[in-house]
Formats: sequence, structure tokens, C-alpha cells
Amino acid sequence: MADVVLEKVEKKFGEVRAVAGIDLTVQDQEFLVLVGPSGCGKTTTLRMIAGLEDITSGDIRIGGRSVVGLPPRDRDIAMVFQSYALYPHMSVYKNMSFSLRLRHMPKKEIERRVKEVAAILGLSERLNRKPRQLSGGERQRVAVGAALCRQAGVLLFDEPLSNLDAKLRVHMRTELKRLHQAVKSTMVYVTHDQVEAMTMGDRIVIMNAGSILQIATPLEAYDQPVNRFVAGFIGTPPMNFFEGTLTANGEGASVDLNGGVNLPLGRRNLQESNRPVILGIRPEHIRLSADGPGNHHKVPATIDVVEPLGRDVIVTARSAAGVFQMQTEIYSGLRPSQHVDLWFDMNRSYLFDRETEWAI
Ligand code: ATP
Repeated sequence: MADVVLEKVEKKFGEVRAVAGIDLTVQDQEFLVLVGPSGCGKTTTLRMIAGLEDITSGDIRIGGRSVVGLPPRDRDIAMVFQSYALYPHMSVYKNMSFSLRLRHMPKKEIERRVKEVAAILGLSERLNRKPRQLSGGERQRVAVGAALCRQAGVLLFDEPLSNLDAKLRVHMRTELKRLHQAVKSTMVYVTHDQVEAMTMGDRIVIMNAGSILQIATPLEAYDQPVNRFVAGFIGTPPMNFFEGTLTANGEGASVDLNGGVNLPLGRRNLQESNRPVILGIRPEHIRLSADGPGNHHKVPATIDVVEPLGRDVIVTARSAAGVFQMQTEIYSGLRPSQHVDLWFDMNRSYLFDRETEWAI
């Protein structure tokens, strides 16, 4: 069992509280992604699990054993860094076996492990090459291979794909996911890229300003964000937000936005009136017609910008309530300056308290 448990883990650098007493359990064999904007504390959290950074207070347990005070090599972890940290003068074989040779592992066992890992990573034909004779993706695989050879219970990844070009990043994403299915180690992965987090994680941990805001499966984080920050962070293009006022009477609730736009909410159990709120709606829940299932309400708008993505286009539109983006089919034929009625599916809308920004 290589589960990882963080209990009230805090990290201060002088006066800076980089990590503010977080609780987190990574299940055995789980692929858990820590995601958040620059400076949110995700790298510090990973480095504390690795033992590269002391903790100020709290406890970290790996496989049921407290690792506080233990050096990295005694923690049952292996780490893959953003800068692959390969030795340029050593072959792939030597790079992958480096930590095993340091431990004086028998040659036969080293060879067995390196060959097995190289086969999993598709590096069997590259073992005699030097890092400079490899592509960026291959170098990244060697770095992962070096960590895998150690057969640690927990693999830690610190933004391992951020040096790769966009296409290779997408490819490596799939490879790492396949790798996790093959080796079944516990993996903790840090990224600032929400798409990487969503596509790879069994669960994702969304952090901001040293705290954990939400721990959820990708679908839960997308469907039920706990607050405006998570709602705006998960999903591309991001959710649209409008300031408004919630009004409710016996017949139902609605939100008044700027410019006299009134949108009935299909939900019941909202009692308060005149509550300042933020209405959130994702670009994919705005449509060109009210046809089909949903609770669609009209917002007249003028098209500003049309950005084709391939199958879809992202359309930026202006309305009395403000500027927003919708995502629709490329065949929609929308053009800049066109006046259209767009339809918000209010069944898929979100409400946040305007002061606390937590979901209502
Ligand atoms: P990034 O994606 O930019 O690396 P991050 O979410 O990983 O961001 P951390 O590197 O964990 O963030 O940093 C969290 C906070 O702690 C930041 O405010 C950072 O400036 C501060 N910090 C990190 N390392 C140190 C250090 N060695 N000394 C002082 N402050 C630090």
C-alpha cells in the first residue's frame, strides 16, 4: 500500500505562508493532480511529500508511516522534474540505472529492471544513445523511466510536460495515462494547466493561495464547482460570469442582469430576494436556438469575434448584460457585427454569492 496522507500540513517561508494547513489523502494507485495558478503552493506541497522541503507543521504519511524528517531516499518515492535532469554524458541505459547503481544493486537485477521499464516506455531501441540524440518526448520518457526503475510506491511529477511543444504534450499526456494503467503506482502530478489536470487525473485538487478549494473527479469539478474560482479555472473557454440580483417569489426565481436582462431560473428552493449574485454559464451551454432539451432563455446580442477551432467555433458576443463567449458548431455561419438572439440554458447555469463567491 502506498497511499499518501497529508494532515494539516503547513509551510512557511519566513512570513510567507506558502501552504496553509492542508488535508489530503491520495489513495493507493490513484493518479492525483494538484492544479492551480502560479504561486498557489502546489510545487511546495509536492516537494514536502518528496522530502525536498521541510514542513512547518502537520504530518505526512506514506504507506501508513510518518515520513517527517526522513530524507527523500527513505520515503518510497521517485520524482520526475520539469527539467528532465538527465546526465548528458551518460547513455539512456546509464541514466535510467543511475540510482540503482548508486545503491549497489546487482548488475543482473539492474539490467532486468531497465529492460522491463524501457519496454513499457518504448525505449528498448534507444538504450545506447545519449540524451542529445533523443527527441524531447524521448528525453521525457527517459526521465520517467529513471523514476520507474526505482520501483517506488509513489511517483511524483513536477510539471513534467511543460518544456514540450503543444503537440508532444498532448501525446505524452496519453502516454503517462497509459503508463499509470500499466504500472499501477500511486502518482501525484503537479501542473498549472487545467486541461492536463482534467484529462489525466482520477481526481484533481484545485488549489489557490496555499489552500485546497476542491478535491473532486474531473467531472465533479466541471459540473459542481464549489466557488467562482474553481468554476472559472476549470473548462476552456472559461465560464462566463455576469453580476446580477436574485429575485424570488412564489412562482419561481430569476436573475436580473445589467441592461434589463431577466433570466428565469428553472430551479425551485430559492427563497431570498434581492440577493447580489454572480450568474455563471459555460460557453457550451449557450445556443443559437431554443430547440432541444433545456430551459432556454433569450439574450439578444451582437457578434464581435468568431474563432474557428476545427469542429467548433468560439464566438465572442456583446449583449446588454455584458460581453460573453459561446461555443458552437463551425457550420453555424456566424459573422462579426451580426445581430442574433442567443439562448442561455438556465438549467446548466450556476449562481455564486457575490460577496463570498461560493456556489449557491
Ligand atoms: P508555480 O507554478 O509558479 O511553481 P506553485 O503553485 O508551484 O507555483 P509554489 O512554488 O509552491 O507555487 O510557491 C508557493 C508560494 O511560496 C509562492 O508565493 C512562492 O513565492 C513562495 N515560495 C516558494 N518557494 C519559496 C522559497 N524557497 N522561499 C520563499 N518563498 C517561497
